[in-house]
Amino acid sequence: MRTPMVAGNWKMNKTADQAKALVTELLPGLKAAVKVERVLCPTFTCLSSVHDLIKDTNIGLGAQNLHWEASGAFTGEISASMVKEFCDYVIIGHSERRQYFGETDETVNKKVKAAQAAGLLPIVCVGETLSENEAGKTKEVVTRQLKGGLAGVVVSDPAKLVIAYEPVWAIGTGRAATAQDAQNVCAIIRAELVSLFGKANADAIRILYGGSVTGANAAELFGMPDIDGGLVGGASLKPDFIAIVNAAN
Ligand code: PGA
Repeated sequence: MRTPMVAGNWKMNKTADQAKALVTELLPGLKAAVKVERVLCPTFTCLSSVHDLIKDTNIGLGAQNLHWEASGAFTGEISASMVKEFCDYVIIGHSERRQYFGETDETVNKKVKAAQAAGLLPIVCVGETLSENEAGKTKEVVTRQLKGGLAGVVVSDPAKLVIAYEPVWAIGTGRAATAQDAQNVCAIIRAELVSLFGKANADAIRILYGGSVTGANAAELFGMPDIDGGLVGGASLKPDFIAIVNAAN
């Protein structure tokens, strides 16, 4: 019922020429995995060149951030309508943005609304830190992030809102959550989506797992009932990304 999604978060990697080389290498494998909604999220400066390479395919393009204001004196920022010139997707509230750039549930909320208003599909990231996990606060943290980040958000098409569960301790560490632990949290997330948006919407919203996903662990993670694919960082910069996409196909 839910179309699986695999999104590659390139983070701050690749110049435009390097991006072109990577996409050219990945393109045949990406094109073949037709049952998966595949999304590439390069840096802003690579969006144009990656857009040109994939525009005649059904591979999606996403940004890694946006600003909620429409325009104006916000030096260094990019608005939703600017993102929409190239993209149909945007990652919002990644833990690195929360940790290093001061993003809060409140700014995440503004960004989600701006993304929706521009017709972008927001991929909204939630997840607990190691100390929160060890303190048994995972449920409390992800519930707070969802309630705050999605406050007042209206779901008119549940296929156009995606949640990514990314435990901070699993990101870039090579230490993915076990499939069962990830499933347990994704079930908590889906239950919270039921209370926010009703059961029919919650059943149709995709929940991705992110944090050290590889070709070796993807199939087990994606096989879990409440995990509908992955948000992939490091491995999205390598041919292993195709193995991950294929695990969802
Ligand atoms: P990772 O990053 O796959 O390198 O752990 C995931 C993410 O931060 O989205």
